[in-house]
Amino acid sequence: MTNKEHGFAIVTHGGAGEPLELSDGCEQAAEAGHAKFKQTADALEAAIAAVLVLEEDERFNAGTGSVLCLDGETVEMDASIMDTRARLGAIACVRDVRNPILLARAVADTPHVLLCGEGAGRLARALGLERAQPIRDSQVDKHQTLLKELAASVPVMPGIDNRMFERFWNYQTPLQLPTSAAHDTVGAVVRGVDGHFAVAASTGGSAPSLLGRVGDTPIMGSGFYAGPLGAIAATGVGEHIVRQMLARTVYGWLEQGMPLQQALQRGIDLIDKDVVTGLIAVTKSEAAACSNTHMPTGKIVE
Ligand code: ASP
Repeated sequence: MTNKEHGFAIVTHGGAGEPLELSDGCEQAAEAGHAKFKQTADALEAAIAAVLVLEEDERFNAGTGSVLCLDGETVEMDASIMDTRARLGAIACVRDVRNPILLARAVADTPHVLLCGEGAGRLARALGLERAQPIRDSQVDKHQTLLKELAASVPVMPGIDNRMFERFWNYQTPLQLPTSAAHDTVGAVVRGVDGHFAVAASTGGSAPSLLGRVGDTPIMGSGFYAGPLGAIAATGVGEHIVRQMLARTVYGWLEQGMPLQQALQRGIDLIDKDVVTGLIAVTKSEAAACSNTHMPTGKIVE
């Protein structure tokens, strides 16, 4: 694959730390984005089409496959879109929506840029967006694994004592950890042949999380950013990504003329190496991914 200025390019990811065997899902997402671009010539439509494929693939922590909150029954999701045609929309802590990325896209047409919780859910109902599907066995299985990890002495969220989740518990049901001893946002960045850039991202949030937790995915400049020089999406532990305003920080280095791969690596290096982190990006002439761990990706560059 060559990197050509202003040719179509798309990069997708299925979450930092996720197995590379999931790359087929990311490649299918990239193909769907490419097909959508051929129909619409719109980089944002292509990015959304790619993320929709990943939200429908229950192996990924987004949409249909979202992780359960610590109560074992609630799903809260975040999503975002941004492009160089001034479209910007995000949703946070949304329940009972099958495809959060469509809701984030819809927010971009409202007078606002970020809606959360019940209000965002009401917008979804008003627009007739499909409700979430019933919780699947695969989601329950992931949750059980998480509870086991939480009961163990290895911190499930780097830098945070597992007992903090019990201490600040904000669910009605008690936390029941087994006596013995995730995160995988999805995202897509697109360069259109007209030189426009777009990014779309969606997540069930990192696990474990207290009710109401919002990570980096719907925060502009942290989990996502698009500007005249390119589009960037981040994945990893939101609490760490937000502190570095990671996507905008990397974009700043592109503004200074740094080559993409170097800027991505520098961004990854800002975060403790024990905290799984990944970035994908497209610029006028490049398309790349970078991570401090394994990260399934898909890529098409024309
Ligand atoms: N960054 C996401 C969050 O913290 C999770 C992920 O990327 O896997 O919500």
